[in-house]
Amino acid sequence: MAHKLSTQFFGAFLVLFVLQPFVIKSLEFESIQNLEGAQKGDVVNGLNQIKKYLYKYGYYHHDIEGTIDDKFDDSLESALKAYQNYLGIDVTGKIDSDTIEGVLTPRCGVPDHLVSSAKWRTRSLDWRISSTVNVFPDAQLSPVLTKAFTSWAKVSPFKFTMGRFKTDIVIGFLKKDHADGFPFKDKEFAHAFPPPDGRLHFYAKWNWTFDPTGKGGKTNKVDVQSIAVHEIGHLLGLDHSNRTSAVMYAFYKPGTIKRDLTDEDKKRIKALYPN
Ligand SMILES: [Zn+2]
Ligand SMILES: [Zn+2]
Repeated sequence: MAHKLSTQFFGAFLVLFVLQPFVIKSLEFESIQNLEGAQKGDVVNGLNQIKKYLYKYGYYHHDIEGTIDDKFDDSLESALKAYQNYLGIDVTGKIDSDTIEGVLTPRCGVPDHLVSSAKWRTRSLDWRISSTVNVFPDAQLSPVLTKAFTSWAKVSPFKFTMGRFKTDIVIGFLKKDHADGFPFKDKEFAHAFPPPDGRLHFYAKWNWTFDPTGKGGKTNKVDVQSIAVHEIGHLLGLDHSNRTSAVMYAFYKPGTIKRDLTDEDKKRIKALYPN
């Protein structure tokens, strides 16, 4: 029962981030540049990739499993318009260059239009690290995760404590397949489960760092603390914001730091947990 419940919640809340350079090279989006200019009525090789992408991120309101083909149909146009609206780009209903850029932009995989009432009953949560891949020693990772938790603790009724054994929240760096039914895809770099599950998984293969802007300036490294703050938002029950500045915005650019909660993030956690 508990497993079934968490799987249901997780289906709606899968959190995935994307590293742009890898996406461009990845097979999944190999032919995406060829799609520019596609519009309703067209049949374009590779269009199914856009359908899969939009379906995965919550832009269809129905099951499209049987129609994931290369035909640009009515429902693709509707889904595309909703996506363009979320991104804040021109709502053309066509696959234009902005749309392609959006699809290739690093993002979190939680669907963008999600209504959830999942909440913690307790206000005291403990957490621990449990990794199967040693990306960082726990002693280095702990203080960074503590900072991410503190960001939320400051603006919510939660008290977060690091624990050792049976904790509410378990965070780890894991391999592609890690036995939770949600193996990472190439472009995904983390996911988390909503309350009351408490699992947060980072995909170990990426170039993780505690300081993405350090030595040499811009990098394609992914900032652990930035991602942790976002993921903890999901762990607490928040879904995505459509404000680009918000920590809970679906997109994150490698090499940048996005650790500070905005007024909107604060407002949303307070609305979810008034006390
Ligand atoms: Zn997210
Ligand atoms: Zn996982």
